[in-house]
Amino acid sequence: MGFACGREWYTFGMPLLAIETTCDETAAAVVTRGREVLSSVVASQEQLHARWRGVVPELASRAHVERILPVIDEAVARAGIGFAGIEAVAVAVTPGLVGSLLVGLAAAKGIAATFRCPIVGYDHVAAHLYACRLTHGDAIRYPSVGLVASGGHTSLFLVRGPLELDRLGGTIDDAAGEAFDKAAAILGLGYPGGPEIERVAAGGDPRAHRLPRPLASDRERLDLSFSGLKTALRYLVRPPGAPADLPTPQGRERADLAASFQQAAIDAIVAKVDLALAKTGCRCLLVGGGVAANTLLRDSLDELGRRRGVPVFMPPRSLCTDNAAMGAIAWERLEQGADDGLALDVRPGTDRSAARRSDVRSAEPRQGV
Ligand code: ADP
Ligand code: MG
Repeated sequence: MGFACGREWYTFGMPLLAIETTCDETAAAVVTRGREVLSSVVASQEQLHARWRGVVPELASRAHVERILPVIDEAVARAGIGFAGIEAVAVAVTPGLVGSLLVGLAAAKGIAATFRCPIVGYDHVAAHLYACRLTHGDAIRYPSVGLVASGGHTSLFLVRGPLELDRLGGTIDDAAGEAFDKAAAILGLGYPGGPEIERVAAGGDPRAHRLPRPLASDRERLDLSFSGLKTALRYLVRPPGAPADLPTPQGRERADLAASFQQAAIDAIVAKVDLALAKTGCRCLLVGGGVAANTLLRDSLDELGRRRGVPVFMPPRSLCTDNAAMGAIAWERLEQGADDGLALDVRPGTDRSAARRSDVRSAEPRQGV
């Protein structure tokens, strides 16, 4: 324990350094035991991958190699501490791209070995939901329903505690953010597609085109699907057999298509969140991931929460997309004395693989879930 001298973290001891390199953001943050974010640095690779309209794994790992040390240095410097002032190192080890994950893990191990401090691996998807805890503190109640919607993941969870997640369902094909990215490409918009679709949709009519809400009317499964919606948009823009030189829609026509797509994608997500709340009986909703930056989704979930009398917790937009501040989740294990040691390894893949749940204490889902 430290001593109080104006800075909260002295009262709680030394802060944690968290490192995040699961996909295409190189990020580091310094967070106190009291969950105060002293610094959060994110180096996005969006420009690097824009040409391919999606993350190219090999390019992502190379960029992480170049950026990881400057990003960590900057996070430590901005926090006003030195490496010797770090209590422990936390690193996202699952799920994600293998090459990207390994860069973050190697950096974390180097720091832990050099400064002889504990190293703790954490789950990137659970951390997305923990961003709500950073913002809303103890107001969060468990069990909650958790929605994580990003470029790589779209899942619904029964969240029994910060480290206890049971996957209830989620996408069976594209992730929601991936669908936004592909829809933007179809409409000739930039990458990443989510903010672009949102911007253009603001000038369009969401009822201009009736696009499908795949699986939304299925009141049994908590699964989602976005590939049919993406294909429907593709055929609206470029019908089968259309000439190769058919111009991409512009102006009001493009705005209507973007608005109709956005409405359909958000309706599909909200329908399943509604179903998850009904099936689990949970009285709290947590939301995270890059797509949670979308205003229509945020407003629609707020509306759903009001209708059901369920509080809805969402991080600010800056903590929705990938960042290392949400690595504060590692405190939940550090407070129990955890140290994964230098044998810690990555577990690549998506949040759909059953194996990724083995690091959290799991319990049997409730009846009917
Ligand atoms: P990943 O782990 O896939 O990098 P992030 O949490 O960084 O996930 O989220 C990135 C994804 O979020 C991208 O697919 C992007 O298009 C999507 N996204 C970001 N902002 C918005 C928005 N305002 N509306 C919809 N999708 C968004
Ligand atoms: Mg990202």
